[in-house]
Amino acid sequence: YHSKLPNVGTTIFTVMSALAKEHNAINLSQGFPNYPSSETLNELVYDAMKNGYNQYAPMAGNLDLRMAVANKFHLLYNTSYHPDTEITVTAGATQAIYTIISAFIKPKDEVIIFKPAYDCYQPAIEVNGGKTVPVQLSAPDYKINWDDVASKISSKTKMIIINTPHNPSGTIWTKEDMLQLQKLTQNTNIIVLSDEVYEHIVFDSVEHHSVCKFPDLKSRSFITASFGKTFHNTGWKIGYCCAPQHLMEEFRKVHQFNVFSVNHPMQKGIADYMADSNTYQRLNDFFQQKRDLFLNLISESRFRFTPSKGTYFQVLDYSQITDEHDVDFAKRLTKEFKIASIPLSVFNEKGKDDKVLRFCFAKTDETLIRASEILNQV
Ligand code: PMP
Ligand code: GLN
Repeated sequence: YHSKLPNVGTTIFTVMSALAKEHNAINLSQGFPNYPSSETLNELVYDAMKNGYNQYAPMAGNLDLRMAVANKFHLLYNTSYHPDTEITVTAGATQAIYTIISAFIKPKDEVIIFKPAYDCYQPAIEVNGGKTVPVQLSAPDYKINWDDVASKISSKTKMIIINTPHNPSGTIWTKEDMLQLQKLTQNTNIIVLSDEVYEHIVFDSVEHHSVCKFPDLKSRSFITASFGKTFHNTGWKIGYCCAPQHLMEEFRKVHQFNVFSVNHPMQKGIADYMADSNTYQRLNDFFQQKRDLFLNLISESRFRFTPSKGTYFQVLDYSQITDEHDVDFAKRLTKEFKIASIPLSVFNEKGKDDKVLRFCFAKTDETLIRASEILNQV
């Protein structure tokens, strides 16, 4: 048969987690917590099951959950999305992203993405016949050259995908970056897909700049979010997206036929859990403590770093240790030193290798201490 994605192999997250397991290594590669999700939340899901939320949810998602999301937008960003027409619950952010792309991208449409890029964007663009137009950024600061972005916009540009806080680099977009994007897309039909799954994980009292805070940007944007990141349960695969009604209508045309709706009791449990806004507002402090612990513990190691500004990932530069290719080094660290990470080159254009690895610090303090003992010996 003719492969639609001849250049796509198995995602690095699966590859590195499997290697970690095979070699009994500490797994700081794939991003997921190794501590339990909240008992209160678990109980609320169980209550939802006992209370009969066991049949199909409405196609757009459980209404209580859509209302909880709408409330959050009021509370945090002072903006509104209508629960009936502008918010849809999805099977994680991944399904939202795939569905947004397939609802809008036709053969030969161009989509601008910033590299290093999370790995689910490009295959979704290409399986729909679109063309990825990369803007490559570089370690250590991953700063955006907006003239470079402007030069890549053409009449074929259908969509721009952004991600802040950024996986894998741990950087965040500044207000100036958002204003530049707003300026470049003003008076165009370009759709912005803003992947904000780490919106609640931002450090050092810096503000997260959501596209929804910029009215002109908001009018052309989808936001995608993931409860797995917010509530420490990546295996539940519940997220949502929101957008102005005219965009959401197109989204739902596809969504209703690729999943119809997603896991109902978990949606209801999460809706009830969100009634207390502390559940998501305390995340910054929770993860900043973990970042600081991890970085203090490895400050004397041979790895160099700029502290992560958001997400639960820390990028470490290993160029003082070896000039091995990052994929080889990540695999050797897993096999010989028993610690797994993610090499960044796999997210770059043509495998550009900046000699950096990504480590996930959404782990118990005990795991972070054991990990640092290893990294200090490399
Ligand atoms: N976007 C980014 C940047 C991510 O890091 C992830 C998951 N790690 C996703 C999307 C997908 O989220 P979900 O697990 O909810 O599908
Ligand atoms: N988003 C997670 C990460 O960046 C992985 C999700 C996945 O395995 N697909 O590590």
